[in-house]
This record gives sequence, structure tokens and C-alpha cells, in this order.
Amino acid sequence: MRRSPKVRVRGHGGLERGDLQYPLTLMAKRGKVWLKPGRDKKIRNAYPWVQKGEIRQVADVEDGGLVTLLSVDNDPLGIATYNSQARFPVRVLTREKEEIDAEFFRRRFTEAWSRREGLRAAGHTGIRALYSEADFVPGLILDIFDGHGVVQVRSLGMENLREHWIAPMVDVFGLTSLLEKSDMAGRAEEGLDSRVEALHGNPPDSAQIVENGLHFIAPIREGLKTGHYCDQRLARARLRDKVKPGDRVLDCFSYTGGFALHSAAAGAQVLAVDILPLALDTAGKNARLNSLTIDTLEANAFEYLESLPEETEKFDWIILDPPAISKTKETRDSLKWAVWKLVYHALPHLKPGGSLLVCTCSYQMGVTETLETCRLAAGDRGCVLMLDDITLQDVDHPAPISFPEALYLKGLWLRKV
Ligand code: SAH
Repeated sequence: MRRSPKVRVRGHGGLERGDLQYPLTLMAKRGKVWLKPGRDKKIRNAYPWVQKGEIRQVADVEDGGLVTLLSVDNDPLGIATYNSQARFPVRVLTREKEEIDAEFFRRRFTEAWSRREGLRAAGHTGIRALYSEADFVPGLILDIFDGHGVVQVRSLGMENLREHWIAPMVDVFGLTSLLEKSDMAGRAEEGLDSRVEALHGNPPDSAQIVENGLHFIAPIREGLKTGHYCDQRLARARLRDKVKPGDRVLDCFSYTGGFALHSAAAGAQVLAVDILPLALDTAGKNARLNSLTIDTLEANAFEYLESLPEETEKFDWIILDPPAISKTKETRDSLKWAVWKLVYHALPHLKPGGSLLVCTCSYQMGVTETLETCRLAAGDRGCVLMLDDITLQDVDHPAPISFPEALYLKGLWLRKV
């Protein structure tokens, strides 16, 4: 078990006393990692991860420390965090020659915040402010809800750099409070245990945000992940535009009612289904906050769809936004199978001319695989589906194309003809 390990100091790098502007830990000697021949190309092309098998040699490395990444010809490629235990032992922080210190993080945070200027100007107050590699801060996720930050640390390297990023984070994003909610399963493989603690101010249990003009409670402490899924903001707004007054909408995997409320705001009659009582409880509160009405049902969405009698009144819209289910190539088939089942069992409950919104939130299942799965399910039902639209994660989850894994969320808008 590792508890708040610090960067280890191994000498001051020959600096004069007067040069010291930052804590001594900044001067830690960096290890070196040499890549195998040809493996430098992807790093030069801005891909941030190195796998174990791509490493030729290491020197002076320490799990959780910083390393200089080098080509086989000794060409410096960048500075990275290193952890031999992790699936991707090397995660590149920068390809420039720069110090990894508070100023580095200040620059990164300032750039990330300006990328979100449009969202902020549009009045959204729940925003993903940092999205790990996609914002060039590998291992660091920050969501901000009405000024309250919720940070997740996903790598030992980033954990060790915390003394450099906490203060700039509070400052650049103007945070009233900052909660670390590092309780995700992925930390175990980095040798990190779960940690939930206040890093600044008094983090509230929940915060109220505005999204597309609607009010939502983000249950920061008790809810899933950081409390609210900002990634579907764009798709929710799109749904509100498409739904007509009086439409019957079934929101499966509703969580706190993101799609449900946007539909209700368009005048629809909505049923939100989720397996988690807290989610539905919050969805109900969210409806009241906006003077809207929705029905909620605590159920396993798979079982609910399968057991719903065919003679039940059909829906104009069915939203299917299941959890990731699979994060690796090895388990991709289970996600495909889950999506097939959902679509197969949803189709009989859709009116002719009605639409399905099928979302997958795993890089392992791209637009092509998701479409193929929907095609198979529709074929097995003897239905033809028309692809009306495709939505992706909203812009606070940036998707640099040099790093394909950043693009994980897609929504296919399929109309039954
Ligand atoms: N659509 C939501 C986000 C969905 S997150 C939004 O717009 O915010 C996935 C949700 O699926 C979670 O709320 C989780 O509780 C729920 N869930 C997981 N497995 C489920 C199942 N088998 N049946 C119903 N809900 C489930």
C-alpha cells in the first residue's frame, strides 16, 4: 500500500542556493528510459503512452518518478512519469525541454481552461476542466461543479507531483473547494489505494449546476464518478431539440436524469430507469428543481426491456446509455453482446417512426462497431433503422486525434422506418 509517496530527492542538480525557487523535490534526478528502435515515431507524433514491450532499457528509474524518454540513438523525446507496475509504464507529460513544476501545471491548466471558454460563456457551470492525456496532464481528471472542484488522480506519477499541481489548480480554475475523489478501480494497478479527501476549502456533499439552462444536483460525494456526467451535455441538448411535446420517452440508465429532464423540458412524458436508488432520487429532485415532472423506476434496464409486455404503449424515444462495461480489447465482446441485447429488446417497444439513441462509452467500441451491433440486432428483429445523427462527447472532453483512446463516447440516433 502506498500512502502519499513523495518525489524522492537525490541531489540538487548542481544548483546554486539562490536559484532555488521551488521545493527541493523539483530537483529530483530523473531516470532514463530508452525505447526500442522505431518506437520513438509515435511519441514524436504526440502519442503519450509507451507499453512495457516497447522499452529497450532503463536507468535510475523509480516507480512514480519522472524520466527522460530517449530514442535508441539517445535523442531526447520528452519527459514522462514512470511506473513499472502500470499497463502503460511511461506516460508523456511534455515533449518540450521544460521543468515539471508548479509553473508547468499553471500553463497546462490555463490552456485547458481557455479551451473551455465557449462552454463557460454559454453559462454551463458543470464542466470537465481537465481530461488527462487529452489536456496533456496524464492521470489527472478535474470536474468543476459551480466552483467546486472534484479531482481524480489515476497514476502514481501524478500522485507524486501533487505538491506542484494542487495550488495552481485552485488558483487557475478559481476553486471554492477541491475534493480528491480517487476511488476508481484503475488505481490498484498503479499500486494506489482509494483516497477521498478535501484538498482545499470545505467540499460540499453535492453542488447545483446549470446545464443547457436546466438545473441539476451533482451528488459529488455519494454519486458515481465525480457526481455528474458532463460528456453527454451536447447529446442532451440535441435530444431536447428533437423531442416533440407529448412524445413518450424512455430513458434507460438515466442516472440523475440528464436525458430525462431535457426531454421533459421539451414537453415529453418521461420514464427514467436506473438500478441505483440514489440516481433516481436525485433525478426526482432535479425534476422538481426545474418544475418538471418525470416518472422513475428502479430496475435492471436489461430485465425491464426484456420483460416489458409487447402490448404496452410504445415509445417515441428510447435512450440507451449503459455504463462502459468493457474497457479492454479482451472484454469488448461482452459490451457488444450487451448492446445487442439492449437494442434487440428495445425495438419492439418503439413506435414506427420512433427513435433509439444508442450510446457506447468505451474506446473499444467505436462508431463502426456500435453501428454493426445495432444492425445485427435490427436484422434479428426484421427492422430497418435509419441513421439520423451521430453525437460525440462534448468539447470539455477533448479528443486529440494523435491519441485515439481519448474519443470514447458516441451516440447513434437511429429511427425505425
Ligand atoms: N445517462 C446518464 C449517464 C449514465 S451512467 C446521464 O445522462 O447522466 C450509467 C448508469 O447506468 C448509472 O446511473 C448506473 O447506475 C446505471 N446502471 C448500471 N447498470 C444498470 C442496469 N443493469 N440497469 C439499469 N441501470 C444500470
